[in-house]
Amino acid sequence: MAAPEAFTSTTAVGHFIAGHAVAGASGRQQAVFNPATGAEARQVALASIDEVDAAVAAAVAAQPAWGDMPPIRRARVLNNFLALLNQHKDRLAEMISAEHGKVFTDAQGEVSRGIDIVEFACGAPQLLKGDFTEQVSTGIDNHTLRQPLGVVAGITPFNFPCMVPLWMFPIALAAGNAFILKPSERDPSCAMLMAELLKQAGLPDGVFNVVQGDKVAVDALLVHPDVKAISFVGSTPIAQYIYETGAHHGKRVQALGGAKNHLVVMPDADVEQAVDALVGAAYGSAGERCMAISVAVLVGDIADPIVTKVAERARTLKVMNPMDLAAEMGPIVTQQAKDRIEGYIGIGVEEGATLVVDGRGLTVPGLEGGFFTGGTLFDHATPAMRIYQEEIFGPVLVCVRVPDFASAIKLINDHEYGNGVSLYTSDGGIAREFSRRVQVGMVGINVPIPVPMAWHGFGGWKRSLFGDMHAYGEEGVRFYTKQKSVMQRWPESIAKGAEFGFPTSK
Ligand code: NAD
Repeated sequence: MAAPEAFTSTTAVGHFIAGHAVAGASGRQQAVFNPATGAEARQVALASIDEVDAAVAAAVAAQPAWGDMPPIRRARVLNNFLALLNQHKDRLAEMISAEHGKVFTDAQGEVSRGIDIVEFACGAPQLLKGDFTEQVSTGIDNHTLRQPLGVVAGITPFNFPCMVPLWMFPIALAAGNAFILKPSERDPSCAMLMAELLKQAGLPDGVFNVVQGDKVAVDALLVHPDVKAISFVGSTPIAQYIYETGAHHGKRVQALGGAKNHLVVMPDADVEQAVDALVGAAYGSAGERCMAISVAVLVGDIADPIVTKVAERARTLKVMNPMDLAAEMGPIVTQQAKDRIEGYIGIGVEEGATLVVDGRGLTVPGLEGGFFTGGTLFDHATPAMRIYQEEIFGPVLVCVRVPDFASAIKLINDHEYGNGVSLYTSDGGIAREFSRRVQVGMVGINVPIPVPMAWHGFGGWKRSLFGDMHAYGEEGVRFYTKQKSVMQRWPESIAKGAEFGFPTSK
């Protein structure tokens, strides 16, 4: 593979409104860091209420014509966008690595999984097809169709600055909506490149807008009467706030929250495969994935060999510049996030868990200012500990030992989160029982990170998702459309005289 080129732009990141990149006008901005060096890389604008209003106004003006356009023509625009995304895949990955800190190959994977959703959305004519019943009563037909909501908004987290927006807007646009994206202020650049690519693809101005910002911009979207639906992905407290506030203001809301994902290793599992799974899923992307494995549930006497082998691997992780193709793990997104993660390691020690590998204090030669921390491993954690209960969102794997399968299931089902879960076993009956009984939205059997494909939809259970519908897939199509049912008959089949009884099939 050719060496990637570092993304080093120092230009301040503004908004994209009505088809044009515009500088922030609120007078408020904040620094975006390069987490590998710890240096400020550029500034990002923080939108005012007026700037959000301008973006919504542009979307309101553009949506009717876009919504009226035949779905196949909207799909052609998305097809052009798909080709452009493929051309700019590495540029997007370079932006992700530069602002998020995940290793370049992982960033490429993120872009690829986002592209999957665009491919799905290119099937808009098929996805939006309605149902028709001929002759529901003599001379009467009934059909259902799905129409766009109007202007919809997406509020996204730092950890997938390309893929998570792509969970949302391709389907929203395919369905005929106009979209406002409020990306994370930590890594705002990908959204701007995607906006430019949509314009190049032929998307009419105003159909897709980006407002950068913080709580001010989010709150303006939540209360705006012209925003009909909000898709949110981020931490659980904010997801709950978005869900409650959006619903209070009459909006349709899907709000995906945080996680604490367990991987159960049964005594009959292949030890090497389980260790590979744990190491990749706990330390990949420095644990900053909502589907990262943060708890290993070790059943019976497989615990000792697993802990020994994971510890060897955690100690020798290649933590380095994320643009180095040999890197296995890059830095944490911000100094504040690194402090939070290392704070949790201190809490785990105080709580009495066994600290087998301590990632604190790691420095990377030449990158001494970077926000690095190493892979950390705890053993003998208990459900009463905060390091077990709370989302740490860093490269910290917590092992809990349980005697049997039933205790593993109970442990998982008692947890407040229910995003992803995984089971390593060679017993089909146990695997089947696990996938039926576990109270979690996305289940992997000998698969550590079971992120569903574009046409299956993504979503957790319990406090990992507020709302009724999962992201993307058919649920995404439903979320971004409203159903209408039409019954029709023509004069020659209308019986004479008013009918006062409830209509039934005749
Ligand atoms: P976050 O909740 O801090 O921020 C998410 C978005 O909300 C950002 O756009 C941010 O600007 C905005 N925001 C933050 N505080 C706000 C406030 N007080 N009021 C209004 N808006 C606010 O999340 P993050 O740190 O960017 O992302 C990491 C979190 O996201 C983790 O908890 C992770 O599990 C979760 N996540 C979940 C999924 C999922 O699919 N369930 C996917 C990715 C990330």
